[in-house]
Amino acid sequence: MRVKLSNRITTALLAAAVFALPLVAQTRISIPKNKYSTRDDIQLGQKAANDVERQFPLIIDSDAQAYLSRIGERLVEAIPPEFQHSEFNYRFKWVNASDLNAFALPGGPMYVNRGMIENAHNEGELAGVMAHELSHVALRHATAQATKNSGAGNTLRTLGLILGGAVVGGQSGAELGAMAAQGFMLKYSREYESQADMLGAQIMARAGYDPMDLANVFQTIQQQGGKAGPQWLSSHPDPGNRYQAISREAQYLRVQNPIKMTRDFERIQARFRAMPRARSMSQIESGAPSGGNNGGDNGGYNPTANGRYSDTVATPSTRYRTYREGNVLSISIPDNWREFGGSADVQFAPEGAYGSEGITRGVMLGVSAGSGDLTRDTQTYLGQIVQGNTYLGRSSGATRTTINGHQGYQTVLSGRSPITGRTEIVTIYTTETRSGQLLYITTVVPENESYYYSNTFRNIVNSIQLND
Ligand SMILES: [Zn+2]
Repeated sequence: MRVKLSNRITTALLAAAVFALPLVAQTRISIPKNKYSTRDDIQLGQKAANDVERQFPLIIDSDAQAYLSRIGERLVEAIPPEFQHSEFNYRFKWVNASDLNAFALPGGPMYVNRGMIENAHNEGELAGVMAHELSHVALRHATAQATKNSGAGNTLRTLGLILGGAVVGGQSGAELGAMAAQGFMLKYSREYESQADMLGAQIMARAGYDPMDLANVFQTIQQQGGKAGPQWLSSHPDPGNRYQAISREAQYLRVQNPIKMTRDFERIQARFRAMPRARSMSQIESGAPSGGNNGGDNGGYNPTANGRYSDTVATPSTRYRTYREGNVLSISIPDNWREFGGSADVQFAPEGAYGSEGITRGVMLGVSAGSGDLTRDTQTYLGQIVQGNTYLGRSSGATRTTINGHQGYQTVLSGRSPITGRTEIVTIYTTETRSGQLLYITTVVPENESYYYSNTFRNIVNSIQLND
């Protein structure tokens, strides 16, 4: 059976060689007033990053990931010393979305859409939008903006809601549901935009790129247009004569043989262009079906697709390893099962039990935005499962259970699996996190093998530790 998935990239960041050039007469940038600590930036960014990765499909591709990280690290090293924050955790991930968009969260997490490299003219342009985003982070514009806006009653919690937007969860999160992707993208003031352009240009030059590619990428984004105009430009308004201002700054930033087109850029661009068409961010938000041709609903990406089904599958190991989802939860998984996907939804299955149609034995685990009503959210989730696996029918009504002390439901579905040709038993456990999100654990096994899996499944469900 299969399920809606989003993915996480686990590849470690690679260090990059960096060369900085001495510079003269650039615009001086003054760090805006900020009443928050850098720790606040980090915490807010981390929380928002969890939500982003829950909501948007990331691309798992170690080569593409390493490439993006190389550019990102090169730029980070080139941040002028007075704006560096060694405590920040800069990291870079590809989102499987078609829009020319990129966004960075306080404290370092950055997301670059696949559409960005598919449409950029060279590596310089890709680095340009990243350098601009990086500048917002280094100058701590999100918390600076909150400092400016804050009245007496303003707290970090409300700031968290601004940043987390739609997917913070809980009551307030639900109310903000309509904010969609923009929730992660603060609309910056023109003053901050101008700062990010100037610092971005300086970082570009120090990293060995042509600062004019920062100006060029704005034109590339603009040309994409679209009905509502590119989202990136609505959250990064033109401070006025953006192109001219960057051009002026670039005159002071001399770079010998700047990095323009690279082989890595061409390779990754070609690979992404050859992938099934990605959805736009707003299509992903609204749950529109994928434009891809593999039947997946994950922006065309199916993490188990490379597996081969087999009739003989090793029984679950009695040794377990612990899988952790940030600080939110931990769970024990047999150590001979592989892990697929990530963040919001993750699947675990033994060799021979996964492939293009999902898994035939194993466990799926995930969190989705909830309404705060467990019964209703459970029904919604069950509906999605049956929709994606039409051979499954209800074997039992939802029975009450507890999961790590939380109230929950257990529901059994069954039907003849088109993969194994045998009756498949799918058991779905649902509960709600304190912030009102739906947590689901789904076990899958052919009925005639269920005897060999029952202890394992019980151990897994009993091992769940929910910290939210
Ligand atoms: Zn901006």
